[in-house]
Amino acid sequence: MPGKPKAEAAPKAAKKSKTLETLRGFRDILPDEQAAWEKIEDVARNLTHSYGFGRIRLPALEATSVFERGVGKDTDIVEKEMFTFVDQGGVKMTLRPEGTAQVARAYIEHGMLNQQQPVKLWYMEQFFRHERPQAGRYRQFWQLGLEAVGSDDPVLDAQIILMTYSFCKDLGVDTIVNINSLGTPAIRKAYISELTKYFKGHAKKLGETDLKRLQRNPLRLLDSKEDGMEELKAGAPQLIEYLDDENKQHFMKVLEYLDEAEVPYTLNPFLVRGLDYYTKTVFELVSTNPIGENGSQLALGGGGRYDGLIPLLGGREATGAIGAALGLERIMLAMKAAGSMPDNKRTVDVFFCQLGEAARRKGLKIFEKFRQAGVDVGEAFAKGNLKAQLEIADKMKASVAIILGQKEVLDGTIIIRDMEAGAQEIVDVEKVVSIVAKRIQDEKIAAKNSKE
Ligand code: AMP
Repeated sequence: MPGKPKAEAAPKAAKKSKTLETLRGFRDILPDEQAAWEKIEDVARNLTHSYGFGRIRLPALEATSVFERGVGKDTDIVEKEMFTFVDQGGVKMTLRPEGTAQVARAYIEHGMLNQQQPVKLWYMEQFFRHERPQAGRYRQFWQLGLEAVGSDDPVLDAQIILMTYSFCKDLGVDTIVNINSLGTPAIRKAYISELTKYFKGHAKKLGETDLKRLQRNPLRLLDSKEDGMEELKAGAPQLIEYLDDENKQHFMKVLEYLDEAEVPYTLNPFLVRGLDYYTKTVFELVSTNPIGENGSQLALGGGGRYDGLIPLLGGREATGAIGAALGLERIMLAMKAAGSMPDNKRTVDVFFCQLGEAARRKGLKIFEKFRQAGVDVGEAFAKGNLKAQLEIADKMKASVAIILGQKEVLDGTIIIRDMEAGAQEIVDVEKVVSIVAKRIQDEKIAAKNSKE
């Protein structure tokens, strides 16, 4: 992928480099990749439109407290990954590391409580986290986010999961959903105290990072990948056994809906996700093709229910909500692994060629007329040689070339060349746009009819 994150190196500021480069973990997305990005955007627009989600465009900067309160102070994101600074006016602000807390802030700020519930919102934005760059992990990356705020109905949990699954499928990426329930905060509290007891009993076997987790956020021990943890985790109490009837019912319903919708899932009792705001359902989507470094699995996206977040940020109590975020760079890696990247080569119906200075001058406007008439037309005005221009027309698979030379400019005419047969005809320059537009339309209808 162009603009891969660079290998570990001394911080740029410390190194005097002669040429300027992107910062570590940041990258340019070059035109070569645009066809894939456009496909991703089209699929997202189509999907969210069908499910009645409205697009929200969020600011890149927020008051730091939106994330400190919304995401949780003991999370990796808030503890070590945020780009935070104080601006010239003394205000502490943060480049958004994730979208859910922002959406919750927006829901409250704009009184969306008064709209029909749930309010369904989607976003496609760039997020920023100060993580160690590696394959599929950047410091600036794109996410598609889906949030349904204002309902605790389990059908919405299933619908959001189905949407993320379908999004990947529509892009040619097969996934499996890992799913778990974290219960409500009260249940989790009781469970965490049991979990803490268990791991305290095995404290000698824990590494430094895990000992810290045990102190600050014991739930995170469940997604620890440190040596020896697999075994310890297997013997740990499982949250699912602590769920009360209401929570169990909710979870069962979600699973039943997923069965109905034929979304493949695996129950994963160790899935806790890194954010504090989740309640009940949490899930992660994993590509069936490994896309991480050395064939490891990387999550393409994930999400969960966050019934406590809106009240936590000052909104009305009992505002149920569920959301998901998909990492678009990772989805693109998965598209590559699945061989479903679209062809980036531009093709056109018509190619405009000009020969000589007078033709070039007149040609600028004629080209615009084609474009305004909705004709898919290409050009190479920087080239003067006709052969070179026809070669480009050929590469772009144009079925018609328009040729304007010195003589045609004087006569008020222009040449239409059939690219396949090589036959040429001279027509009135004033009529060329409508003649060509009609011809292309007829060709398309004929091609469609022959297919049917
Ligand atoms: P999260 O917001 O942490 O739940 O992440 C949701 C998805 O965003 C992940 O599954 C990844 O696909 C993607 N993601 C998260 N962090 C990064 C990153 N640093 N670089 C690229 N993608 C990321």
